[in-house]
Amino acid sequence: MRTALVAVPWVLAAAVAWGGGTTPEAPQPTPARNAIVFIGDGVDDHQLTIARNYLFGASGGFSFDAFPYRAAARVLTVLESDPGIPEYVGDSASGGTAIAAGVVTSRGRIATRAGDGRPVPTLLELASEAGKWTGIVTTSSITDATPASFVAHINRRYCQGPRDMRPTATDSRCLQALKANGGPGSIAEQIAASDVDLLLGGGYRHFDQPDESGVSVLSQARDAGYRVVRDAAGLSAAAGQPGKLLGLFGDDTLPVEWVGERDGRATSVAFEADGSVIDPASFGCVDNPEFGTRPTLEEMTAFALERLEQAPDGFVMMVESASIDKQAHQGRPCGQIGETRALDEAVRVATAFQARHTDTLVVVASDHGHAAQIIPWPSLFASRPDAQYPPGKVARVRTLEGGVMAVSYGTNATYQEEHTGTQVPVFARGPGAAGVHGLIQQADLFGIVQRALGLD
Ligand code: MG
Ligand code: ZN
Repeated sequence: MRTALVAVPWVLAAAVAWGGGTTPEAPQPTPARNAIVFIGDGVDDHQLTIARNYLFGASGGFSFDAFPYRAAARVLTVLESDPGIPEYVGDSASGGTAIAAGVVTSRGRIATRAGDGRPVPTLLELASEAGKWTGIVTTSSITDATPASFVAHINRRYCQGPRDMRPTATDSRCLQALKANGGPGSIAEQIAASDVDLLLGGGYRHFDQPDESGVSVLSQARDAGYRVVRDAAGLSAAAGQPGKLLGLFGDDTLPVEWVGERDGRATSVAFEADGSVIDPASFGCVDNPEFGTRPTLEEMTAFALERLEQAPDGFVMMVESASIDKQAHQGRPCGQIGETRALDEAVRVATAFQARHTDTLVVVASDHGHAAQIIPWPSLFASRPDAQYPPGKVARVRTLEGGVMAVSYGTNATYQEEHTGTQVPVFARGPGAAGVHGLIQQADLFGIVQRALGLD
């Protein structure tokens, strides 16, 4: 379901069903048979609160707000030039690598160590070696940094397909990964050669390219046993069919489900000639017609679970809602909110699965914080003649419960909004989830999942 403004009855039902607080959970058997790791890209408490206010009201909650275990995770990143020195803001590559492979690395690195570039095994690789099935589901290109961190090893996240391997004027790092130079090839080539049983997301254009020897990555994937599907009908037709599956439902990042009414987004604050502030026009969120008939994150997650449920020795799956980050970069609160809703819907599917398979660990994590903040509008100091308004951009979003929420994007005046360096929330339920409490490090999540599954 992806209806925006007309979703009020559903929203109220969900809010009532939540009821507040966490639900107790009986001790679970260990080791866990399955693990499902969600990553909300760019999720921090502020991004969650913005979406929660809109979707469920200020007193409502996401499905994962009711999970019995919750922690704050430090986002640690180090300098590539000196891995002994911390950097205080991460990206999806360093955050994804911390969660997937348990190491603190530098920004832009995919499951490789800062400095020397040594590859680090990922949860999906360890699970596969132990005979488990593995899956990746995302709303980005499956070659993008978050999913790549679970399946590929490369020193630069932008080496997504063969065409990205050519050196640019300022950066030749992809060259080291060329097969001609003894490397594993681009991220798409590494995916085509991987053991991952199921990958669903975007990124067709990174596969529809010839590699160094002139062979397209798509044919490499097919030769390696992947059935390739490109739409919802193809996905349905693949249900019940054995073998590896590669679903590419868009050329790159998938379109988001929601946009602002009249393309509403954050704008610079403007003033009248007398200096008084002009309130930016408020807007609600509506369906994005560009989303089309492709499967939603919820539908991809449900499909993946149905398939992975058949694994004789269990599975490990990563599910990413990617565009919380990507829409925050663009100052588009409705894109962020719709994508956070997609995350919540997918987590609901996993929670229902976990209720039937209590030997499943479910973790909802984040890779780094982002730019958007809820601010008072008008200013708390509006009565003062020297009242200040935020120097960046502001959107005023009309919520479903009848309020107007002002969201400030204040990290960049000209190009994209920036990531921020806050700690990020983690939620967990199922066997091994008790490790998710207090203040942890992102990289601890690797060990929590690994130990829960008995993979060490
Ligand atoms: Mg991502
Ligand atoms: Zn980002």
